[in-house]
Amino acid sequence: MSKMKPGVVYGETYKELLQSCKDGGYALPAVNVVGSNSINAVMEAAANNSSDIIIQLSNGGAQFMAGQGLADGDTAKVVGGVAAANHVHLLAEYYGICVVLHTDHANRKLLPWIDGLIDAGAAYYKANGRPLYSSHMLDLSEEALEDNLSTCAEYLKKLVPLEMSLEIELGVTGGEEDGVGSDEDFHDNPKLYTQPDDVLQAYDLLSPIGHFSVAASFGNVHGVYKPGNVHLRPEILKNSQELISQSRDTKANPLDLVFHGGSGSEKAKIEEAIGYGVIKMNIDTDTQFAFATAVGAYVEKTPRAFSHQIDPDDDKPYKSVYDPRKWLRQGELSVVERLDEACADLHSAGKSLAKN
Ligand SMILES: [Zn+2]
Repeated sequence: MSKMKPGVVYGETYKELLQSCKDGGYALPAVNVVGSNSINAVMEAAANNSSDIIIQLSNGGAQFMAGQGLADGDTAKVVGGVAAANHVHLLAEYYGICVVLHTDHANRKLLPWIDGLIDAGAAYYKANGRPLYSSHMLDLSEEALEDNLSTCAEYLKKLVPLEMSLEIELGVTGGEEDGVGSDEDFHDNPKLYTQPDDVLQAYDLLSPIGHFSVAASFGNVHGVYKPGNVHLRPEILKNSQELISQSRDTKANPLDLVFHGGSGSEKAKIEEAIGYGVIKMNIDTDTQFAFATAVGAYVEKTPRAFSHQIDPDDDKPYKSVYDPRKWLRQGELSVVERLDEACADLHSAGKSLAKN
């Protein structure tokens, strides 16, 4: 596998990176971010682990990036997404790793957000000769398959000239991610398990158009629940891959599969899913918790600095303790540490294709 220039990867290079994952038996952590603290923590973790990484924004993450004080939330979602992507384009090469820039879960209501990002991305492509994002995600999994796939085909046609990919969702990921999702009961609910025939239909329609990945459901759920409540069945992924490779005479594991709701998942099931062509595992809940616990611990350790500028007993100034850089850094370091675990689980550590 040829070495790549550090920075944002897209188009043919993105496909090459995913093929390297499948050939090398690893997957990339795809981490949801909401601002420069989380973006930098993800790149720091990737650099520490010599792992390539996927940075992604949900609609709410993009809005938060722009600032929740902006009056027009819809505009904020677009400009926040552009701001985050620009931040990554500027900094990724300095971290010396390859970064994939992705958006997360856009249902039909959120298509205007994706339209805005595609417009901004087209202008960016014209100016820079590369796309703003490597790939967008549409989640129309709650709709009829025909509607889901025809809209995905329409969007993929718009993305191909920008050298971009598309992630689609087939079958429903349980729970919700940033307002998109289902309230389906996730106890052995058939809707939570993707049908291989649906995947074949997607393959036949989309593969002649351009590159796409599939968030296939195998009982995975967003969020972290008490053990025993989530029943992962990775063999569903295997069945989809085999149906396509056998009926369309392709190489093994032709699909690039995405594992949503990776937080809190059993390690053995992660391992199994990678073997069936999972190249991206989304992680959000566990990194959110990592950030929160470290900041919480810092506040608990130095509570007076969060209520007094000067200690009422000994007149000691607390400026250096309540400086936001101090406690935000604790949050960042904790995310970095949690991602060490993700890189180890997904076997991406030490596999960066970036040439340094
Ligand atoms: Zn998801």
